[in-house]
Amino acid sequence: MNITFWGTRGSISAPLSASGVRSKIVDAVMAVAQAPESATLAERGAAEAFVDAMPFAQRGTFGGNTSCVEVETDRPDHFLICDLGTGVREAALSALGRLEGRSGTFDVLLSHLHWDHIMGFPFFVPAYIPGHVIRIHGCHAQLEEALKAQQSAPCFPVPFAALGATIEFHVLTPGETTEIAGFSVTPTPQHHGNDSYGYRLERAGKCVVYSTDSEHRIEDDTDLERFARFFQGADLVIFDAMYSLADAATVKEDWGHSSNVMGVELCQRAGAKRLALFHHEPVHGDAKLQALLEQTLRYEILTRESNVLDVIAGYDGLVVSV
Ligand SMILES: [Zn+2]
Ligand SMILES: [Zn+2]
Repeated sequence: MNITFWGTRGSISAPLSASGVRSKIVDAVMAVAQAPESATLAERGAAEAFVDAMPFAQRGTFGGNTSCVEVETDRPDHFLICDLGTGVREAALSALGRLEGRSGTFDVLLSHLHWDHIMGFPFFVPAYIPGHVIRIHGCHAQLEEALKAQQSAPCFPVPFAALGATIEFHVLTPGETTEIAGFSVTPTPQHHGNDSYGYRLERAGKCVVYSTDSEHRIEDDTDLERFARFFQGADLVIFDAMYSLADAATVKEDWGHSSNVMGVELCQRAGAKRLALFHHEPVHGDAKLQALLEQTLRYEILTRESNVLDVIAGYDGLVVSV
């Protein structure tokens, strides 16, 4: 089962600037000049191999789109999407490409209704095409109201009522398991301004947890234990690691987000197999995000008891298999 990260940024989109691209090119040119094999790098294959061996933050970017993750279902015309951040625009184009003109069903799980998790929907192309079915699930009673409000005048030119697809809203009950797109889906409440919900998705013996915009307190063991159970044995936990532990425990306490260190601790306690750092701080550039990942990898080794926890950082375009 493939999980595709279409948007991994928190709070607001943060695209790479021209000066950011230039800086990466300068680093690459300097690396080529210093490489013993520099004379062979005019050949494309050799150049590609050289670039692939560079650190991710130099050769790529974590990306700038806000939260959107697609979890593969067992049907080619059925899509399961977590959150409608700006990443959903590309998720939609990819899905339409795979549908090759057929109609599709899109089940969406919304963590909450903050802008960064819904702002991609007005650009979700299938919503405009009759024949597609879009079912939006979430635990907030204002689900429908929020999505309609975001497309109302004078903030957007196309009203929600003009959308051509069949669009339904389903309010879920936290703690109750519902069958959605072939998955057993269980939501849980999370500590976040205006509330948010994490989702545990299970299908064919595999488990993916989507838990973003969630603050955890080191001193609240009852809450930590509840989340350790929620993450129990997961193949992949997509986790709000917006801050470093130092930030999360001091200046940004009560801001409703969590840290890389808390992600490792909860996943270790839960016996989860892989942790994906997610909802990256928009202020952090690629080098800082890479440094946070490396710090997290060292922390996992230092605190490892028996099971190895594989730690990765989500980036726009990343595909992970479980
Ligand atoms: Zn957010
Ligand atoms: Zn939020």
